Amino acid sequence: MKFKDKIFCAIDFSDLKKSQEFIKKILNNIGGVKLGLEFFLKNGPEGVKEIKKMGLPIFLDLKLKDIPNTVKRAAENIIDLEPEYLSVHLSGGHSMIKELQSVKRNTKILGVSVLTSLDKSDLKQFGINIDILDYVQNLAHIGINAGIDGLISSALELKNLKKHIKKDIIYVTPGIRLPDEDLNDQKRILSPGDAVKAGASILIIGRSITKSNNPLETLNKISKNIEESLEY
Ligand code: C5P
Repeated sequence: MKFKDKIFCAIDFSDLKKSQEFIKKILNNIGGVKLGLEFFLKNGPEGVKEIKKMGLPIFLDLKLKDIPNTVKRAAENIIDLEPEYLSVHLSGGHSMIKELQSVKRNTKILGVSVLTSLDKSDLKQFGINIDILDYVQNLAHIGINAGIDGLISSALELKNLKKHIKKDIIYVTPGIRLPDEDLNDQKRILSPGDAVKAGASILIIGRSITKSNNPLETLNKISKNIEESLEY
């Protein structure tokens, strides 16, 4: 399937067996698997090792955020699992992110900017009154100065980010929906094709695939959607 390497499926299940069975179905049509808090807090490092045995690159989306020393020591435990990617919240600040440089080995550190479930009105409630584009950009610069390998943001922010970021980093975008699909709790969304067109390196797609009656057909639709939008 075309563009499959760009698609990481968010396996947001609690059950290890269910996760393994689901991944088995789509194994040849995705580029990697994203395991987040739901999976990790139930199955722990042993669960990650089991999924790793299936052979796909793993993105451990644990969104770490704490004081620098705590994050460093937590990351040391996680890096032993050798995930391809590990996420941290950029709002943890420069020192926290920098601590990871000495422990990350081959794991690439991805910085979460603003969750795609938040929009301008949520930021306003936090007392952040600048435009979401500017806020994401500020966080991106903090991350890049502290040595992140990639940035997680909505694809809606990519055009603006790419204008300002000169360093060659990985752009990871959740908040992906096919046209006419349910948004669920996501607010800042784009289609797979538009996200790739905007410069996304990796698309994180969860429920569109995992809740589909026919996940392989959905993956094909995603691939076609990317292909079509690149034609224009
Ligand atoms: O089901 P859906 O496609 O909305 O899943 C998106 C996945 O990406 C979820 O696992 C969520 O935790 C994650 N994510 C996100 N927004 C971010 C970072 C990660 O939605 N900024």
